[in-house]
Amino acid sequence: MKETLHREVVIVGSGPAGLTAAIYAARAELRPLVIHGPQPGGQLTITTEVENYPGFAEGIQGPELMQQFEEQAKRFGTEFLVTFVNKVDLSQRPFRLWTDEGHEVKAETLIVASGASAKWLGVPGEAPAPEGLGGLGVSACATCDGFFFKGKPIVVVGGGDTAMEEATFLTRYASRVTVVHRRDSLRASKIMQDKALNNPKIDFIWNAELREILGSPETGVTGIKLQDNKTGEETEFACEGVFIAIGHKPNTDVFKGWLDMDDVGYIKTAGVSMATNIPGVFACGDAQDSVYRQAVTAAGTGCMAAIDAERFLDSLPVATATGEEVTIEGEVVSADREQITMPDGEVVSNIAENQPPADTAAQPEVLYARPSTELSS
Ligand code: NAP
Repeated sequence: MKETLHREVVIVGSGPAGLTAAIYAARAELRPLVIHGPQPGGQLTITTEVENYPGFAEGIQGPELMQQFEEQAKRFGTEFLVTFVNKVDLSQRPFRLWTDEGHEVKAETLIVASGASAKWLGVPGEAPAPEGLGGLGVSACATCDGFFFKGKPIVVVGGGDTAMEEATFLTRYASRVTVVHRRDSLRASKIMQDKALNNPKIDFIWNAELREILGSPETGVTGIKLQDNKTGEETEFACEGVFIAIGHKPNTDVFKGWLDMDDVGYIKTAGVSMATNIPGVFACGDAQDSVYRQAVTAAGTGCMAAIDAERFLDSLPVATATGEEVTIEGEVVSADREQITMPDGEVVSNIAENQPPADTAAQPEVLYARPSTELSS
C-alpha cells in the first residue's frame, strides 16, 4: 500500500472535462488532484486537427490543445497522479478511491470525468495479438497508427463523424480507403460526409457488416469477411489494415453500483447541475453525455462540476475544534448535535419531534462536515 492522499477535490480523468474542472477548482484554491486514466489528455490526444474548438480560428491539433489545458491546470496548482482507479467506496465522505499503484485517495468531493473509449465489434480477428490481429493491422486510432499503413489498402468501419474523420485522415497514408457501413446512409455531420464522399481515395461499401478479420501473426491483416445485410451474401475483401470507428463507451465501470447510470453506462446527472445521485459526487464530459460529446461541451460541464463542487464544500457546516459545527447561514450546531444557536442568538432544539428518548435514539447524523484541519498529503 502506498501513501494515503486526502484532497477536497479529486478529479478522475484528464480530458477537456477533467482539466477544465481542475482549472476552476485550482483557481478556487481547492488544490485538486487529477488522476490520469490510461489515456492522459483524453480522446483529443488521439485526434488530428480540431477545427470547432472556439478560440482557435485556424484550428489546433488535438494533442497541442490538451497540452495547453494541462499547463493551464498546473499553473494554478493542480496535482496529477498517473495511475488507474480500480475500486471506489462512495458510501460516505470522504469518498475513497484505490489505484493500481496502491494509493488510497480520500476525496471530500469527487468529479468523475473519466470520458469514453472506442467500442469494438467483437468479431474474430479483432482482439489484441496474440489472440487476434489487434496491433498487427487492426486499430481504433488512425492518428496513432495511420503512419504504419503507407501505400496500403485499408478499411474503416462505421458511418459517424469518427469514421469519416479517420477515413479522411488515413488517405494521407493509405493507397485506398474503403468505408464499410451497415446502412445505406451516413450518420456523420454533413460537412464530414461531404469531405469523405468527395475524397477520390475513399470508396464506400453500404449495407455491409464485418464478420471476421482475416490474416495471421506472420502476415498481419490480409482481408475481411463481409456480409451484405440485405441479401445475406458473404464476400471477402482484401486489405492490410482495419480501423474500427463505431463510437465510444463511457469509462464508468468502476462507479457501477454507486452512481446511477443508463443502460450504456452514462452517469445520470441532475440536468441543471452536474450532481449525481450521491451528494458531493459530480460527473462531467463524455462519462455523462451521450448526446453532445464535444470537447467544448465536455469543457463546459467540467467547469460546471468544479463550481458545483466548490459550492457543495462552501455550504457544508464547518467543524470547530470544540466539536461544534458552523453552517454557511451562521447557525452553530452544538457538539452533541442537540441544539442550534441561530445567528440572532435564539437557541432551538435540533431534535425532531416524536424522536425516541436519547439513550435509545440513533446517533444524530453528522452531515458531511467540512474538516477544519489541514488535509493530509
Ligand atoms: P456515432 O455518431 O455513434 O457513430 C457510430 C457509427 O458506427 C454509426 O454510423 C453506427 O451505425 C456505427 N456502428 C455502431 N455500432 C456498430 C456495429 N456494432 N457494427 C457496425 N457499425 C456500427 O459515434 P462517433 O462517430 O464516434 O461520434 C460520436 C460523437 O462525437 C458524435 O456526436 C460526433 O459528432 C462527435 N465527433 C465529432 C467529430 C468532429 O466534429 N471532428 C469527430 C468525431 C466525433 P448506424 O449509423 O447504423 O447507427
